[in-house]
Amino acid sequence: MARAVESALRLIYPPQCVLCGGRTDAEFALCGTCWRGAEFTGGLVCDRCGLPLPGEDPGEPVHCDDCLVTARPWSRGRAAMLYGETGRRLALALKHGDRLELARPAAEWMARAARPILVPGMIVAPVPLHWLRLFRRRYNQSALLSARIARLAGLEHCPDLLVRARRTASQEGRDREGRFANLAGAIRAHPRRRHRLAGRHVLLVDDVMTSGATLAAAAEACLAAGATEVSVVVLARVAKAP
Ligand SMILES: [Zn+2]
Ligand SMILES: [Zn+2]
Repeated sequence: MARAVESALRLIYPPQCVLCGGRTDAEFALCGTCWRGAEFTGGLVCDRCGLPLPGEDPGEPVHCDDCLVTARPWSRGRAAMLYGETGRRLALALKHGDRLELARPAAEWMARAARPILVPGMIVAPVPLHWLRLFRRRYNQSALLSARIARLAGLEHCPDLLVRARRTASQEGRDREGRFANLAGAIRAHPRRRHRLAGRHVLLVDDVMTSGATLAAAAEACLAAGATEVSVVVLARVAKAP
């Protein structure tokens, strides 16, 4: 009976691509065109940021050039996809809230990418937005993702584990050093959540990783508040032009 209703509803409201609104076969999915445009990560990836790397899996963690030269205060990381055309459109649509249902498949891809680095007892938390930005935007896209990832992975979630200590100007248009300087000390543990951090391994969730400056500031805040280890997962990793 429920199935009959469902098929009847599907005839009236065929499932739509979460990104472009085109026809799809399944609910909360991408259409064929968007799917083919999405550069999902797979195979050998940098163990710290999830960037795909050429070559065979040597059976031990490998790191990309970026992670070799940049201090990463976290231990392991994964990305669901590259920040290509589809990755960029997904991240923008999530950020600006016109397609919030995107958080559902996006969190599934992220949870799948993060599977090799998940550890029992981890606490999952989003990279925080400043309250003013949160107020304007009404929600933190990373918190939508982290809530779903925690549920899929069966891990504890704490949406306000971290807070922005001060407002930072946009990262756009800054060079790498500028990005790190802009974020230094900008994030700290929520004073009332510190007890949940002590002795824990934190999984930080963000939508996009470019230089890694925001994730570094968030990871440092976790460690300063007593976390033993930090890992990260992002929806899309920006790969530098070769
Ligand atoms: Zn589509
Ligand atoms: Zn890397």
